[in-house]
Amino acid sequence: MPSLLITGADLLGRGAADVLVEDGVITEVGSIRSARGADVLDADGLVALPGLVDLHTHLREPGREDAETIASGAAAAAVGGFTAVLAMANTDPVTDTAEAAERILDLGRTTGLVDVIPVGAVTKSLAGEELAELGLMHRSRARTTVFSDDGRCVHDARVMRRALEYVRAFGGVVSQHAQDPHLAGPQACAHEGELSGRLGLPGWPGVAEESVVARDVMLARHTGSRVHVAHVSTAGTVEVVRWAKAQGIAVTAEVTPHHLVLTTDLLAGYDPTFKVNPPLRPQEDVDALRAALADGTIDAVATDHAPHARQDKEHAFVDAAFGMLGLETALAVVSDVMVGSGLLDWAGVARVMSQAPARIAGLGTHGGALEVGDAAHITLVDPTAELTVDRGASLSLSRNNPWHGRMLRGAVHATVFGGRVTAQKGALA
Ligand SMILES: [Zn+2]
Repeated sequence: MPSLLITGADLLGRGAADVLVEDGVITEVGSIRSARGADVLDADGLVALPGLVDLHTHLREPGREDAETIASGAAAAAVGGFTAVLAMANTDPVTDTAEAAERILDLGRTTGLVDVIPVGAVTKSLAGEELAELGLMHRSRARTTVFSDDGRCVHDARVMRRALEYVRAFGGVVSQHAQDPHLAGPQACAHEGELSGRLGLPGWPGVAEESVVARDVMLARHTGSRVHVAHVSTAGTVEVVRWAKAQGIAVTAEVTPHHLVLTTDLLAGYDPTFKVNPPLRPQEDVDALRAALADGTIDAVATDHAPHARQDKEHAFVDAAFGMLGLETALAVVSDVMVGSGLLDWAGVARVMSQAPARIAGLGTHGGALEVGDAAHITLVDPTAELTVDRGASLSLSRNNPWHGRMLRGAVHATVFGGRVTAQKGALA
């Protein structure tokens, strides 16, 4: 692999420097006159971030390769500036054994585009009853550290307690999809309020999330273990997480790009593109989520990238599948809404989209600070680019893109994974 010289990039917003990459590692940072034989990437006017890390994607392989494959998801991730993505366990079959986890790891490696890290199921077949092979998955080549039944809530407190006790032994974490099934059942699909009543859609009240998060932080305190809250969607959950962190409880949390921008009013047209779980919330919640991401109460942005084939998404609203695409637009959304408003600077974006998620997932080689000796996972961002999202241009196999037609300020210019340019200007390199 030839060396790579990145010239004039603004490193995490701290000032411009050149970066030399040799054999997949950053070997020099500063003013570099020449690097014989190196490919040169002119990054004048671009911001360099450590490669983005996504704690929450659904890559659909095995089982639904018509909606996404690990290869197509990895391509979308590379174009979106990611160098590592965690793949949720709710595939068919479920990732609930060491063999299943290793298979996902290996399929990810063959792409050469991004590290694909399997998330292990908490319970066998996501049934919520018997613990999956947590220890065997951790001891496998996949080194599984994050466990989640995402798509479903680990709603039995006794099962959640045992899972937390189990993963504590090896520093693992349980990522919870917080949804009390009695307060928000499988049909619940719209924020419970005046609008859901008028539209006749089954309501999904915020308390169904908040009550599970409140219980889980107390279980984390009781067990001395680590819990992560997936896709926080309400101001009430932010309050619970803020309180728990103040007590020293080991809780971390993520928010999706869509919950930082899109509101429940979008459901008025019954467009299933906007059907997602947890549902889009009112503006007050959106404002609280932005503030919590800025002040560190919410640690990370995670996409919950959820591709769906046409035949599953193009239905009457109540029958359509839950979920939206997110990998290719996440950085642009965060740039537009968080940097554009002054709530985060670029060092803050590096924190919430790379360093914090890498730390939560225990990914040692990701989430650095672009220093000598770091693995060369680098995302170059053009902070002034204004791009209108076109769902037809996506590398995902699916088209359920809620950002279609929106203009966003700030775009991924190029992605470097292990010293190799994987994507540039919206296409694979
Ligand atoms: Zn979920």
